[in-house]
Amino acid sequence: MANWNLSFDYAAVFFLLLILVWFLSEKMVPLRSHRAFLVLLINDLASATLEIIATWMARNIDVVGPNSVFFALTLSNLAVNLTCITFTFYILQLAHIDVLKSKLQHSLFIIAIAIDVLVLSVNYFNHWAFTFEDGVYRVAYASLILYAVDAAMFLVCLVTIFRFRKHFQFLRVAPLLFILAFCAVMAALQLTAYVPMLHLMITSLCLTLFHYQQNAGTVTDMVTKQFNRRFLREYLYGKFSEKKPFGVVALAMDDFKFINRTYGAEAGDSLLYQVGEYLNTVHSFGIVFRLGSDQFYLVIDRRTDQLSSVAEKIRKRFHQPWSIQNGNAIMMSASLCCIECPKDANSYDSLIDALDYSVGYAKKNKKGGIIYVCDLDLSRLRQEKMIEKAVRTAIDRDELMVYYQPIFSVEQGVYNSAEALVRLNDDNLGWISPEDFIPIAEKNGMILEMGEMILAKVCRFIRDFHLSETTIQYIEVNISPLQLRQPGFADKFMQLLESYAVRPQQINIEITETTAVDSSAIVQRNIQALVGHGIVFSLDDYGSGNANIAYINHMPFKLIKIDKYIIWDSFKSQKAGITLAYTIKMLNALELSIVAEGVETEEMREHLAGIGCHYLQGWYYSRAVPDHEFIQLVAAQ
Ligand code: C2E
Ligand code: CA
Ligand code: CA
Repeated sequence: MANWNLSFDYAAVFFLLLILVWFLSEKMVPLRSHRAFLVLLINDLASATLEIIATWMARNIDVVGPNSVFFALTLSNLAVNLTCITFTFYILQLAHIDVLKSKLQHSLFIIAIAIDVLVLSVNYFNHWAFTFEDGVYRVAYASLILYAVDAAMFLVCLVTIFRFRKHFQFLRVAPLLFILAFCAVMAALQLTAYVPMLHLMITSLCLTLFHYQQNAGTVTDMVTKQFNRRFLREYLYGKFSEKKPFGVVALAMDDFKFINRTYGAEAGDSLLYQVGEYLNTVHSFGIVFRLGSDQFYLVIDRRTDQLSSVAEKIRKRFHQPWSIQNGNAIMMSASLCCIECPKDANSYDSLIDALDYSVGYAKKNKKGGIIYVCDLDLSRLRQEKMIEKAVRTAIDRDELMVYYQPIFSVEQGVYNSAEALVRLNDDNLGWISPEDFIPIAEKNGMILEMGEMILAKVCRFIRDFHLSETTIQYIEVNISPLQLRQPGFADKFMQLLESYAVRPQQINIEITETTAVDSSAIVQRNIQALVGHGIVFSLDDYGSGNANIAYINHMPFKLIKIDKYIIWDSFKSQKAGITLAYTIKMLNALELSIVAEGVETEEMREHLAGIGCHYLQGWYYSRAVPDHEFIQLVAAQ
């Protein structure tokens, strides 16, 4: 044993110290697995150091005596075996298993430690586990008991990773499984011979874990140095499974975009940093997370009764200025929402949903104020969630329908086009209006999938019903701004048309004013590309938004659809009537074609045709109807 090569152990100690310093110098992550990792590091460090000490003592056996060498060897052996137990403990913490709470796991660990301690202390007298004679270290039969404990721990790790694989995301499972396989090989080698690199290998495994798992940098936000959204999920998962009450104050800065635009992104970042730092000082048990661009969550452990005083304190802070560069200061406003868990929300998803909804509500109705989630009527949120589920199901089962509403051409005296309108009939909720489900689908991104399905259905309709042989020249399709914000949307759109042999002239895209003035380069590039391919754009809901007419003049619209509410208003008030008449005159002078929506009566039809609308659409002619009905309608004219 005196001739054991210690270089690997020195290297192990060096790297372990490095990881330890690195780990401790970073932000402390408030998770049990983080603390368990620290225990693992210390255990491994102790184990490598003890091996060095024991070997050094063996080399100087004449000075220290054989008994103390044997004692040091016993301690070193114990530390190695405990590493296996602390590693298992760490794995259980990653799965958020509270070992102290579960009697079974609790006893398992106590028994494992007791066996290791017992075998090695008894070995001190009977030398059944290992021997050390004439400077030679030998493994004896009782060490099989120690290996059995290691094997049991190994099994616990495997079962835990398998059972809780949902919590170990892919990247984490891969290194963990690798480490486990590696440990098994090491343990097997240890059975027969001394492995000089054991500690260095364990250290490299700790380094891998540190990199993938325990590195605070992966869970903190670069700008504010506070925890990020990814970590919030992990942290709250643990909180909810503990079943202890806690509270969250959500802080949403009002008009932060304005600050970024006015003072620059650097000043914006510095302000966010200051807010994060401030929130850290508000409550001694508070943990700060930065969510989106201008949102923070302050999670308060235990004392949920202090939630309102904390929120009040934050609100007051926002009555004071915040400093920006060159000694200047600005005032900012923030809306606050408080939620008590598990009373108001009992899972991560319901908490995020409730806070998202409340923050949106606060920004609209109580800017700069404090809102308590329990005071809000969450029935709308629940309704929204139900609709969201219905849309998801309809998409998955391909149950979305497209109806067609004819558009009458005054000049030709026939239906010359139609608007495609999506329809959804849910088993539980019945017919749901697109006015209700489109905004929800836009919020969660489902509109992209939905938009593609709708376009495919429209193309199939044009092809299968031989629309080119009727008076219908084109179908108007509503396109959401979100769809146009996808890079490559134009190409995808054209490919779909081509795959159904639909000509670009057979489809018109309807976009609203807000989409049209979207200044993002991608939107404008998509619009230009589609126009280049011969697609015509119609401006939907004209007059309902607040788009600048001069701006719209530069857009490639051929058709303007006047919003139905503007049309209806014109029949209710004289002033609105005059405005509409002049608007139509102006659009006519600009050589744009005009569609009037919401034509419900004969009187409306006559008047609107008289003042210069080229096309009429509304219930007077027909509501939106299924494809075969639409074809009958067109054939019967
Ligand atoms: P929109 O584009 O303004 O569509 C016109 C809406 O007015 C349709 O409501 C239509 O049924 C309704 N309408 C037409 N004529 C009359 C009338 O004479 N009287 C009354 N009271 N209403 C009339 P719908 O189908 O409920 O659609 C509502 C909105 O949902 C649409 O407004 C559009 O913004 C959106 N939407 C509908 N289908 C789609 C779609 O396929 N894709 C996208 N992105 N949005 C869609
Ligand atoms: Ca429309
Ligand atoms: Ca419209």
